[in-house]
Amino acid sequence: MPKVVVLGSGPAGLTAALYLSRANLTPVVYEGLEPGGQLTTTTDVDNFPGFPEGIMGPELMERMRAQCERFGATFVMDEIHQADLSKRPFTLKPSMGEAFEADAVVIATGASARYLGLPNELRLRGHGVSACATCDGFFFQGQTIAVVGGGDSAMEEATFLTKFADKVYLVHRRDSFRASKIMQDRALGNPKVEVLWNTEVLDVIGDGKVEGLVLGDTVTGEQRELACTGLFLAIGHTPNTGPFKDWLQAHPNGYLVTAPDSTATSIPGVFACGDVQDSVYRQAITAAGSGCMAALETERWLEAQEH
Ligand code: NAP
Repeated sequence: MPKVVVLGSGPAGLTAALYLSRANLTPVVYEGLEPGGQLTTTTDVDNFPGFPEGIMGPELMERMRAQCERFGATFVMDEIHQADLSKRPFTLKPSMGEAFEADAVVIATGASARYLGLPNELRLRGHGVSACATCDGFFFQGQTIAVVGGGDSAMEEATFLTKFADKVYLVHRRDSFRASKIMQDRALGNPKVEVLWNTEVLDVIGDGKVEGLVLGDTVTGEQRELACTGLFLAIGHTPNTGPFKDWLQAHPNGYLVTAPDSTATSIPGVFACGDVQDSVYRQAITAAGSGCMAALETERWLEAQEH
């Protein structure tokens, strides 16, 4: 039985695993079906300390993983499907493997991209509809596409997509962006980017692939069609609380509640770190920091149980 299991393999999970393995707790990391988390879908990471020239997201995650393995962490490419946190040891059932028990659990399952929830958006996902510009941008060489959102992600994605597309419409439901000034300036200063203010996407047109959008003016209610071959969503994320949400206290927005200045959840022995519990900062470095906190708190908690 593993003493500690870490769920998730983004910066939070891997930092927790690093500290736990260095404390000789030989953590087992359930790395999920998309190991490495959100950073594996980004290109240059310029704001992670220690890399003055920047580093590619996937490479950063590979390095973190190798560092954990060096100290004895083991990895399972599976995700937890069911959990019983009613008594200790906790019981966890992965999607593919057998159920197992653990004394302590570190939840670092991150957050997933949000979609608008339109039926045709779902149908055309992977056929012109995407939430990952770095994964799919390449397929839109010379095309006209739309990015939805007004935050840093939308600015970043729109700017990145101009490397491939001839024209990028930035569709935003209000008349101002919430994105940081520097990111806005970068997107707005790009001649290929055109902002459609006060505009929402009402439908996605196309049989086998995206051929256009039905847009609505959020002020006048007027509708019109926009011809384009791609729709990229950059409208935020939803925390991956999956099988834990029935057990643990969560905020109204779904993010797990942790004690002030701590990663302790509402159940002793269960800790949460990274984007699954952070709706404010959501940065790789803050996720890593909270992963470190979770490991140290887990170690102390296990020690207290033994005495
Ligand atoms: P965000 O800041 O929450 O922005 C989401 C955007 O999507 C908002 O503009 C919002 O509109 C819009 N939106 C939400 N639901 C919508 C819907 N149903 N229909 C249409 N529009 C909708 O999310 P984010 O841009 O992913 O950023 C998340 C965090 O990561 C932020 O802290 C950000 O600073 C950080 N980040 C940093 C970087 C970087 O530093 N390089 C890059 C990306 C993200 P409203 O404005 O009207 O609410």
